[in-house]
Amino acid sequence: MPLADGSSRRVSARDLVAACLNLLFPTPCHVCHRPLDSERVSAFCSRCWGSLERMPAQVCARCGWPFPASGGTCGAEVPLCQRCRETRDHFRIARAVLRYQDGGIARAAILLTKHGRRLSLLRHLSRLLAESAPQYLSLQEWDGLVPVPLHWLRRWRRGFNQAEVLAGAVGRRHGLPVLGRALSRVRATPLQHGDFEARRRNVREAFAVRRKVAGRRLLLVDDVFTTGATANACAAVLLRAGATEVGVLTLARVD
Ligand SMILES: [Zn+2]
Ligand SMILES: [Zn+2]
Repeated sequence: MPLADGSSRRVSARDLVAACLNLLFPTPCHVCHRPLDSERVSAFCSRCWGSLERMPAQVCARCGWPFPASGGTCGAEVPLCQRCRETRDHFRIARAVLRYQDGGIARAAILLTKHGRRLSLLRHLSRLLAESAPQYLSLQEWDGLVPVPLHWLRRWRRGFNQAEVLAGAVGRRHGLPVLGRALSRVRATPLQHGDFEARRRNVREAFAVRRKVAGRRLLLVDDVFTTGATANACAAVLLRAGATEVGVLTLARVD
């Protein structure tokens, strides 16, 4: 008979076996492959988690590109990177809290949430975004958060949209409404590769506005800012639907 105390004994036995197995064969850290310590965060040891690559203070005033430590801000009063001096974006400002670099820990963590479907890891990253965002961007300037949508098929396969989880954490912490269905992805786009032009062609006409956004200052939320093509496509449709202005907050940004 499935008694309550019987089932709790079974669970305890399973926990004990898992603990013994972990002692014999400790789970390695996803990055450094040392055994995970007690302060671990999901698949990351505390040392690797503490070494997540943060964005520096000195970034491009518009797109948030990190200037090299040795300067390179072109001496202008409002420092803009070369991309922003040559391109016109639909969003007013984009900021990220982490750097997305080849071989980097932040990149490894984000890829693990996406392709390993680690929702618990994504929740840790969401808390980090919510806590750190005010260092990079004034959240009081915005009326609501708009997560960049996934196509329904990709969302169904993954089980969640990482942008919604990130926006939820920022909204809860800073008292901002999340306009979860303000945007929808009306066209499935292949996974993005290539330069800005290729990505811009890829996401053109991919988004549609589903909610009333007129007169609002909206902050788009996503996991990674790569070339800005997705953010621009979203910002363009939101502005066309009457949004006053659009900003972008991402967990990480490609250097
Ligand atoms: Zn490690
Ligand atoms: Zn820039």
